[in-house]
Amino acid sequence: QSTRELLLSRIRDVADYPKPGVVFKDITPLLADPKAFTALTEALAETCVRHGATKIIGLEARGFILAAPVAVRAGVGFIPVRKAGKLPGATLAQAYELEYGTAEIEVHAEDLEAGDRVLVIDDVLATGGTAEASLELVRRAGADVVGVAVLMELAFLKGRERLEPALHGAPLEAL
Ligand code: IMP
Repeated sequence: QSTRELLLSRIRDVADYPKPGVVFKDITPLLADPKAFTALTEALAETCVRHGATKIIGLEARGFILAAPVAVRAGVGFIPVRKAGKLPGATLAQAYELEYGTAEIEVHAEDLEAGDRVLVIDDVLATGGTAEASLELVRRAGADVVGVAVLMELAFLKGRERLEPALHGAPLEAL
């Protein structure tokens, strides 16, 4: 069984969650399986090392679960990007468009600086809005983006197209 097959077999489709008509990709079976979670962590750590990342950003909340062990494994720092109002220190904030309305994410300003090479990690790329906003935060801090790595890309939502301009040529890798 390939890593891809193993990971796919541990992602559960939940119909009509969080609202009718949406099929939610639930990664909790993958997290509960040490073989699958380890395979995912190693694949993402390999991506981190391959791109010479010096810091990893995890996007709240499932991105935290994936990015933290990857940072430890790859020997680089972990930086949380959180929903607005959760970080206690001085932050940079970035608003972005949702289907209905807007959302805002933040990072501690002191966690990023010029010369940092940042890999952004999340579980699912959907519309790409969250990842796009995170790349704006990295750039506004003066740091470089080496890539975005996700477990899954929901290609029908065209997040890759939305993200493309903000990537500045850096890769979006979906396992
Ligand atoms: P986007 O900003 O539309 O790309 O949404 C991405 C964010 O929503 C990520 O942080 C994901 O964790 C979350 N998300 C969207 N759809 C799903 C899903 O089907 N399963 C798990 N998370 C999802």
